[in-house]
Amino acid sequence: MTLEELQAAGVRAAALVFVDNAGITRMKCVPLDRLARAAETGVGMSLVWGGVMGNDLFVTMPGDPGPSGDLRLVADLGAAAPLTCAPGWAWAPVDQREQGGGEWDGCQRTFLRRMVERAATRGIEILAAWELEWTVGRDGSEGFEALHRGPGYGAVTFPRTSDLMLGILEGGSGLEIEQIHPEYSPGQMELSLGPTDPVRACDHSVLARHVVRTVAERAGWSASFAPIVASTVGNGQHIHFSVWAEGVNQLTGGEGPARLRPAGESFLAGVLSALPALTAIGAPTALSYLRLQPSHWAGVYTCWGVENREATLRLEGALGPDAARSANVEWKTPDGAANPYLALGAVIAAGLDGFDRRLRLPLPVSADPAAFSEEDRRAAEIFRLPKTLSEAAEALASSAVLEAGMGGYLHDCVVSVRRGEAQATAGVSEADLIRTHRWRY
Ligand code: GLU
Ligand code: MG
Repeated sequence: MTLEELQAAGVRAAALVFVDNAGITRMKCVPLDRLARAAETGVGMSLVWGGVMGNDLFVTMPGDPGPSGDLRLVADLGAAAPLTCAPGWAWAPVDQREQGGGEWDGCQRTFLRRMVERAATRGIEILAAWELEWTVGRDGSEGFEALHRGPGYGAVTFPRTSDLMLGILEGGSGLEIEQIHPEYSPGQMELSLGPTDPVRACDHSVLARHVVRTVAERAGWSASFAPIVASTVGNGQHIHFSVWAEGVNQLTGGEGPARLRPAGESFLAGVLSALPALTAIGAPTALSYLRLQPSHWAGVYTCWGVENREATLRLEGALGPDAARSANVEWKTPDGAANPYLALGAVIAAGLDGFDRRLRLPLPVSADPAAFSEEDRRAAEIFRLPKTLSEAAEALASSAVLEAGMGGYLHDCVVSVRRGEAQATAGVSEADLIRTHRWRY
């Protein structure tokens, strides 16, 4: 939007946001008359935020800048959205840039944009959409008090959820919400965003969370996107993506397994082979691993399947009548603590590696891999994804594919943050992990 359009929409101030490597959304706010400057030269932020953990403590960054150095948070006005849920306010994502104005290698949004450009050099275009789950509740005298008691998808929750849902649907201009509903566990809700280009898809995921939190809080409740909030059912943040070449969806209409076209198959095979390292990006906190349990539709094995909700990579819509438009793959591991730009950028890096190497897929899996015997899983080359944050961090540390995609600096920052969080949370009880993370995402 232009400044004039924002002003005409009643905007008086803007919340400028980015998501850090630990998945926390950070914000600086400016009055409208400073927004033009924030979009040109940015507002300042210390370099050390590239090494911040979910607990607000810092790890030593690569190159150890210490207290020196500054970044510029440069607002992307084109992506700014007036917030209907907070009249007078706009929301805008920022790029983290170097002081001289150049791209900063630690910027997650810039990384994603680079991956989109890398795909374009191969004639590949990616469309993506996030599906967000969160829990609405508050801390009561008898523990966590949830907005609704279910049942899953229960219309009986309507009197309690309808105002919230309407506020969210209308909460941010330009936000394309396709569906919203009460989810499976008490207080849990979900929305699905429409498919669009990768950077916009991630912007919309961050904006949607901003809107959800604001609407909930203004109604006297709080919304949490933490991977686990109160029950054992987690909040996923699944990413759906499709792979296009010359305007044709490569995930259907071909001769490969499940009618994949060659580019779609090799892209997917690249993502499949990087799943252990990707886990550290999609599941970034110690809490994430309480969610990542078998048979919870959260994706914990190295496998893909057709419409199989226990497959970490689920091909969906590829066999239906509208397949050419809607066939897509859902990566189920990410949770609400994942940085969406990092997660989607890493998926594209892995997919392009598969594309370049013309990788082929193993057979799809149609059952819950948790129900297989250990022997059958091994025979089918299905392995359990990392079960702890430190295991995931080491898988990421040793991933040459993701290091090459992310660049050494960003890769180093993320690995350092993951290792730091693993260390900081070692020995912390599950109950304390849940309690201390509940209102941070
Ligand atoms: N709540 C599940 C998760 O933790 C996802 C359920 C679904 O597929 O919508 O990922
Ligand atoms: Mg769901």
